[in-house]
Amino acid sequence: MFETLTQAPGDKILALMGEFAADPRTDKIDLGVGVYKDENGVTPIMSAVRKAEERMLSGAKTKTYLGISGNKGFGAAVLDLVLGDAVARNRVRIAQAPGGTGSLWVLMQLVNRARPGATIWLSDPTWPNHQPIAENAGLKVASYPYFDAATRAVRFNEMLAALDALGRDDVVLLHGCCHNPTGANLTNAQWDAVAASLARTGALPLIDLAYLGFGDGLAEDAYGTRKVVESVPEALIAFSGSKNFGLYRERVGAAILVARDAASADIANSQMMNIIRASYSQPPDHGAEIIRVILEDKDLRAEWEAELDLTRARMIRLREKLAEAIRQRSNSKDFDFIGEHRGMFSLLGLPREAVDHLKVTNGVYMIGDSRINVAGIPEDRVGVLADALIAAIK
Ligand code: PMP
Repeated sequence: MFETLTQAPGDKILALMGEFAADPRTDKIDLGVGVYKDENGVTPIMSAVRKAEERMLSGAKTKTYLGISGNKGFGAAVLDLVLGDAVARNRVRIAQAPGGTGSLWVLMQLVNRARPGATIWLSDPTWPNHQPIAENAGLKVASYPYFDAATRAVRFNEMLAALDALGRDDVVLLHGCCHNPTGANLTNAQWDAVAASLARTGALPLIDLAYLGFGDGLAEDAYGTRKVVESVPEALIAFSGSKNFGLYRERVGAAILVARDAASADIANSQMMNIIRASYSQPPDHGAEIIRVILEDKDLRAEWEAELDLTRARMIRLREKLAEAIRQRSNSKDFDFIGEHRGMFSLLGLPREAVDHLKVTNGVYMIGDSRINVAGIPEDRVGVLADALIAAIK
């Protein structure tokens, strides 16, 4: 049968990682792959995670099945983390799922059961995996204006006009915070306007929350999500624990649905359980149990929050240092946006030739669309990086 198949496209980011690894230059700089790295270039295991794992190892009594919706304590704790007191829990259902990706997969399947072939509107640009997940779920994909390549800010008026034109059969994918790939985010006032638009049009929001705590803080980054779920009768949220708990390979996330009342939440949830049962039956427990232990324990939670604070502060400091170094050298404010963006990424808006030039000439690696991972900026060589960036766009 396989003779009918043709080569599928490879993953561009993984290919770039391979190129970086093979580059013999010792002063090369990796701004490519989307994982957090500390000052040693290492993606660390957080100290609270290590302690939770040790506790689990000695305390675990069984490895029997968990159930389709996964770890219940994890679910309750994640709802509190994400929603606070934004919505009555009898309207909310949560299923632990394999990462943010698995959560998006489950939720988009659910949308397709409610509205087969509905259109999901993605920001232009967005995380490259959104479109294939949506299409594999049976949805149609369209895009709304988002990033202004000239100012590197959100084209908010155009975005809002596009959202205002949607209707009850449409789904809108919103990045809850720390937009990937651009780093340009909505202000709280803009979230208020988006929530009001959704309430007016009846379009269904699907919020991708993959970087909670990586922007301005846990509560600050949840503002948009909470505002939206307070404003509309129905909403979906795909939560990821990959970045904020550093649990990438454990595949932990959650699919959250908010319905208009408890009875419709039960019906939608039964469909979600049915989708999961036929997809992977049940989620893996390890990462979810780590998160449950941390969030339920006062001391471990404080330790996790403190480490997350340091992680976030480091990324903001690197942003400000790079922006400042470029400003001093170029005598222009054109790259100040790097300091204003939030999250792990900024889209620099460089032409493809500049991206290639930086790789070939300077050993500076970034994604082809000129997305940089700010956690990869070498703090002691910010000036070198600034020089290279300025030279590449001359
Ligand atoms: N959404 C966005 C916007 C992301 O950047 C990512 C991770 N790159 C994910 C979802 C999914 O993350 P994971 O499946 O690893 O939890």
